[in-house]
Amino acid sequence: MAAKFLFTIQAKKEQKEMMPYLIPKTVISVSFELLHLFISLIISHKDTHFTNGFHLNRLIDTITDLKINGIHITLDGTKEIHNQTRHLKNGKGTFEKIISNIKDLLSKQKNISISIRMNISKSNSDYFVPLFHVLQKEFGRNVRLYPAFVRDYGGGCVSGSCFEMGIMKAKYLKNIYDEHNVYTKDIFPRRTYKGCMCQKMNAFVIGPEGELYKCWHHLGLDKKVVGSIFDPHTITNFSLLSDIMIKDDTILDNKCRKCVLFPSCYGGCVDEKSRNKDYCIPAKSMLEDFLDIHYAEKLKK
Ligand code: SF4
Ligand code: SF4
Repeated sequence: MAAKFLFTIQAKKEQKEMMPYLIPKTVISVSFELLHLFISLIISHKDTHFTNGFHLNRLIDTITDLKINGIHITLDGTKEIHNQTRHLKNGKGTFEKIISNIKDLLSKQKNISISIRMNISKSNSDYFVPLFHVLQKEFGRNVRLYPAFVRDYGGGCVSGSCFEMGIMKAKYLKNIYDEHNVYTKDIFPRRTYKGCMCQKMNAFVIGPEGELYKCWHHLGLDKKVVGSIFDPHTITNFSLLSDIMIKDDTILDNKCRKCVLFPSCYGGCVDEKSRNKDYCIPAKSMLEDFLDIHYAEKLKK
């Protein structure tokens, strides 16, 4: 039996502008609980962890036991720019510690897949290519960097303005290829089997009070709570749950049904769709250019 579960547990923000995280002891104990649960249910289990990387060193020795086969680590750019937004309470930057943790991890775990997600807004977008070169120099092909275009949902973001439209993201990706020969996975849409966690039966974000959400964007919004891990019935708002899961599904969207990218694209971000924002993937706006780039890359191999 195999099933896919996605749990995201979000800790309280200790301080404005700082990334929330769970202490390693909690991560390890929750992961062991889940592992034992899957074993008892005879469910095959693979674990990918998303982390800011700062306490990664404290997880390394348990990675094999926890069956973690992939780690995604977020960075905001090269050392100078990353440390401006991702620092400790005392102002000390976190970049060097994260890089040192990755080195430590790679020296002990040869088969783990490490992806670096760089959060991109307009203010740090110039640092993607420099970060690419830093990581190449340090880790070669052992670490993969990908861009993640961030959005300010709460209105309190201090990181700078965002790339809102798909065409802006597409031009950015094309430019870093044309000007710097940096090819990212977003250039060519890969085959997907089902949409994001909003549309997956067993995927939830768990808030600091145990409340359940279906989408990362909903975290902290009372009106988007669909249940609680402490409620005997777990799900407390079935109509909201089904609304989120089904109402904006790709299959019901005429634009998607006519789109050449469907079903390669799983229908974009359904939360953006529900807010009438641009929800298409970047490839939609510059597909021919992206196909040319993809073809050129294939010819190199
Ligand atoms: S690119 Fe846009 S229109 Fe096409 S399938 Fe994806 S979300 Fe739908
Ligand atoms: S709706 Fe958008 S933000 Fe929410 S989980 Fe899906 S892709 Fe992510």
